[in-house]
Parts: sequence; C-alpha cells; structure tokens
Amino acid sequence: MDTPAATDLATRIRIVLVGTQHPGNIGSAARAIKTMGLHRLVLVAPQKFPHNEADMMAAGAEDVLNAAVEVATLAEAVADCRLVLGCTARSRRVQLRELRPRDAAASAHAEASAGGEVALVFGRERTGLENEELQLCHAAVHIPANPDYSSLNLAAAVQVLSYELRLALLGEGTSAAPAAIAPVNPDAVPHAELEGFFGQLADTLEDIDFHKGRAPDSAMRKLRRLFVRTGLDQKEVRLLRGILADAQRMARLAIGRSSG
Ligand code: SAH
Repeated sequence: MDTPAATDLATRIRIVLVGTQHPGNIGSAARAIKTMGLHRLVLVAPQKFPHNEADMMAAGAEDVLNAAVEVATLAEAVADCRLVLGCTARSRRVQLRELRPRDAAASAHAEASAGGEVALVFGRERTGLENEELQLCHAAVHIPANPDYSSLNLAAAVQVLSYELRLALLGEGTSAAPAAIAPVNPDAVPHAELEGFFGQLADTLEDIDFHKGRAPDSAMRKLRRLFVRTGLDQKEVRLLRGILADAQRMARLAIGRSSG
C-alpha cells in the first residue's frame, strides 16, 4: 500500500500524452506512471489506440491503460487544471519559464496540496509539442540531458518526471529555490476560464486596432505569459473582462461615429 498522502495527491495529477504515434509508448508510459504511484493518463488524439502493442508494453498496468481518458485537443485535456507543465526535449524553444524536473515536481506537489488539478504534458515522438500547445502551459520542463542527444524516448521521459513526482509526493524532494516554483494561488481560475479571457483579449486588440498591421501572435504570446504568471482569480478575471467589454463597446461606438 502506498502512503495515504501520496495516494491522495496522485488523484490530482494527470499525465497527458499528445498525439502519440507508437502505441507501445502509451503502454510503457502507463507502466512508468503506475510504478511511481500515479494512475491518471489522458491521451490527446493518439494515432493508434487501443492497440495490442500498448497492452503488451503495459505489462501489469492495464488498469491504468483501461482507465485512460481520450480527448481530441490539449485544451480539453487541461481545461480544469491550475498548473500545466509542458515537457520539451529541446531547451529554450519557447518563451516560457523553464523548470528542471525536480522543481516542476515541487510545483506540482505544491499545487496539488493546495487542491489544484495538475497536468504534465508530453509531446509526439517525432515532433514534440506544437507552439500552440506549449502556449497552454504555465511552464516548460526540460530534462537536462546530453545537449548533443537530448531527446529521450517518450516513455523514458514520463518515467523521469514520474519519479521526481514520486519523491515530491513522498516528501523526499529537495526543497527547490522558491523562485523556481510556480506561484500557487489557491483561488486561481482553471485553464478554461483563462482561455475565455484570452479569446476576449485577442478580439479586443483587434477591435481597438492595436496591432496596426503587425502579426498579432507576438503580443498575444507575451500577454498570455504575463497573465498566466500572475495566477488570476475569478474576481480579477471578471474585472479585466469588464474593462475589455467597455473597450469593445467604445470601439464599436467610434466606428459608428466615423462611418456616420
Ligand atoms: N523530436 C522531438 C522529441 C520528442 S520526444 C522534439 O524534438 O521535440 C517525445 C516527448 O518526450 C517530448 O515531446 C517531451 O515531452 C518528452 N521528452 C523527451 N526528451 C525530453 C527531455 N530531455 N526533457 C523533457 N521532455 C523530454
């Protein structure tokens, strides 16, 4: 039997595999997480699943495999999460804060202890996570592997992160420097609500002609980073959306005036 504290925290942590190409890796990942006391596997549009290669590689972790949840997009997979960590084989590929596995595990532990849902996200074997998918993440996690050969097998990467999570959940993780740990705001809104806010923010920037011909992506990326970092709560999101709604209303009035 596992310790009650570790078992309780494990219910709030999900391992998300995005667009996995080889079903054997899904089975190996199920085995990897079960050995470390985790059990929640979410599959985003797997290429072949269910599949006998997945069953074969799971070797005793069929329960994890059978309980795996399948969804179409990463946004769906993390909609209710307050901490989303994206694992990348390449360092510093995106403008995201980058955590070492140990610090990522400490952040996940802190968030789960505060009652939040946590996701650890892993990319495709060939191409990893797309930039749009990384934008849904609060931080990137990179295993500091051999810089000349830094890409681990998917299930091996899952094993490394699950092991660090295990140590953290058992209270055996080293205490990371506080700056490395994502802020935990017990009242932070779940991901889906933040996405609603980002959608309205993007619309408003269009409405007020903020971009003036420039590509909107760069500004939105920076704004996303800013707001994800702050861990907005419900009241703050409501206030900001109220301001945006007024800005949109004023923009409509201005257009009406100039065309009238
Ligand atoms: N060729 C891909 C590698 C994908 S490996 C690329 O360059 O992105 C499949 C997945 O395993 C990755 O998306 C990542 O989630 C995980 N992974 C592999 N090596 C890793 C590393 N060194 N650090 C963190 N995650 C890693």
